[in-house]
Parts: sequence; C-alpha cells; structure tokens
Amino acid sequence: MPTLFKYDKGVKFLKKPENLTLIADPTTVKAAADCDAALVTHAHTDHSLAFPNESIKVYSTEIASKLFEGLTAKKTKNTEFVNLNKTTNVNGIETKFIPAGHLLGAAQIVFYFDDLTICYTGDISTDEMLTVPRAAVPEDDVDILITEATYGKGDLFFDSRERLKASILKWVAENLQKNKVPVVNIGHLGPAQEIIAYLNKMLSVDIYCDNRTSEINKVYNEEGHNLQWNRFDILNDSELKTERSLVLLPRAAKEIPDFLKPHKFSRSIITGQASRFAYSSFEQAFPFSMHANCNELLEHVKAVNPQKVYTLYGFDSELAAIIRQRLKLPAQPIKLSKKRLTLEEFF
Ligand SMILES: [Zn+2]
Ligand SMILES: [Zn+2]
Repeated sequence: MPTLFKYDKGVKFLKKPENLTLIADPTTVKAAADCDAALVTHAHTDHSLAFPNESIKVYSTEIASKLFEGLTAKKTKNTEFVNLNKTTNVNGIETKFIPAGHLLGAAQIVFYFDDLTICYTGDISTDEMLTVPRAAVPEDDVDILITEATYGKGDLFFDSRERLKASILKWVAENLQKNKVPVVNIGHLGPAQEIIAYLNKMLSVDIYCDNRTSEINKVYNEEGHNLQWNRFDILNDSELKTERSLVLLPRAAKEIPDFLKPHKFSRSIITGQASRFAYSSFEQAFPFSMHANCNELLEHVKAVNPQKVYTLYGFDSELAAIIRQRLKLPAQPIKLSKKRLTLEEFF
C-alpha cells in the first residue's frame, strides 16, 4: 500500500498496513486527535494550534515552541524538540526539519517514507535576511513537494526587500524630521523583528512596541539577536521624544494607543497584502513580506526539482498553473487531490 496524503485541516500522511497517521500543522484539535503525532513547522497560530494540546505528541523546533509561548501566553505541552538538519524518528518514520526562513525557528519538513520522499514547506522565504536564513533546499531527492502558495500569483508586485526596507527607512526619517511620530502597523511575529533589526542598524531611533511583540523580541535575543526596543505600555508620556521615536502596532490595530494622542504622528502599514489591497486609511503601505513571492516560490520549486508538486494556502490554483506552464512539472492544489481518494482507501 503506498503512502497516502491529503489535506484535512492539516497535511495528513497515512501509512498502511501499520495504519500510522501523521499530521503536519493541524488547524483544529479534532483534526489532530486521531493522529499518532503532529509536526509543527513554525509558531504562527494558523500552523501551531497543536502545541498546547496535551493529548497530541508534537514535534517542533524549540524556538518555535518558545515563540508560540511568547505569542499566545499559553504553554506548549507534550512537545519533543527536534534539531534542524538532523534526522528525527517520528513513530518509525524518518523525518528531517530543515530551515524555512520566514520566521526564527521555522522549518520545512522532509518525510522519508519507504516509497516516497515528501517535503512540506510550511511557510518559506528564500531571501537571506537579518533575522532568518534563506529556505534550504533538501539535500536528498524529493518525490513530492507540498509548497505554500500564500503569494503564488504572478501579478502580485513585490519590490525587492532591500528596496522596500530603504523606502520604509526614508518614510520614517522624513516623519521624524517633521516632528511626527512614525506609527507602523506590522505583523508582530516575524516582520516586526526583521524591521526592528534593520532600523536598529540604520538609524538612531527609539522603537516602541506592545507587550506581546516585546515578549517575542526577547526570544529572538535569547537566540543571539540584538534587538533594541522599549515597551510603550509602561511609558510615561513625557518620555516620548517625538524627534526620535517610532511606534510599532499590531498589524490589525485600528485605534492608536492613548499615549500617542497628544502627539503629531503619521501612520503606515507593512504587509505583503499591500501588494493586493490599497490600505487607504494609511499614509503609506509597504508590501514587505516574510513569505516568498511568486517568483521566489518558483525558484524554490525548481531547485527542489520534485516529481510532482502540490500547492497549499493562498493562491494554490494560480501557483499550480504557473508551475505547470513554466516549470513543466505536474502540479495541483492539495485540496483538490483529496477528491481522488475514497474514504475506505484513506482509512
Ligand atoms: Zn507563517
Ligand atoms: Zn501561514
């Protein structure tokens, strides 16, 4: 019986006759409940829901677990830590977690089944950045690549990350010069740390973040980074020096915190989604992302060179079509592939 895989609120792998089921990045507790083990690629909550669940054995990097705790204030349970680039045996199946970029401690997972070698990327970035390495290409031949497709659409425009960072820096400096506090909405796990590291390097400016971002920053520093920031929730108003302070807010924050209200300020947002949406309530929107863009995803698929590609998340059909056209590789969204198995076949 070949190894079967499908998407069912997580990437599920079934091995017969042992009846072994593994799940990667389950999105509900129920999806993971019948499985023998869960594997978590990284700490973002759409991938890491299995962590606080006692009944499920979870495999992940230690950093992903620490970041999850910083992010959610929940404890991870029943978790076995894996080392990147080392083989880990999960219920008799050899696996290897390899760097994914994207976020500190994020991994792609290679599964070595008897009949198939499968690589699941989780979320990836393929650019070398200040806080993350580029996504690794598996050393071994991969039969099946299951790749993320968050920005897998050809017409989404991303300028180079270096250029985007430079325009963020310019916007910050110009506002400081006008005595306005630059206020930036940004994803507090991943993008915030990369932009803090960049601004720390480039500009003498005091960066203020909320408590949650601050907890995440601490984990980055425990792992050898040297981020410099302050918390705005413990700030006396008199401390804010408008000529050299910058405030980071969570990406979805609409209201500004009270301490900012007496000051002149200017707002921008940093998100890859700015390549799709106008964000007209902000003065500027920067499409800077810790996800690979379409071309970078294609380059990664080409470098891995699998027999077949399955796409997942975001623009899965679009990316599959581009892979078929440009790379001449069979590709389809994994969410369609499940239609090919009957329930009896799977269970
Ligand atoms: Zn992610
Ligand atoms: Zn994701």
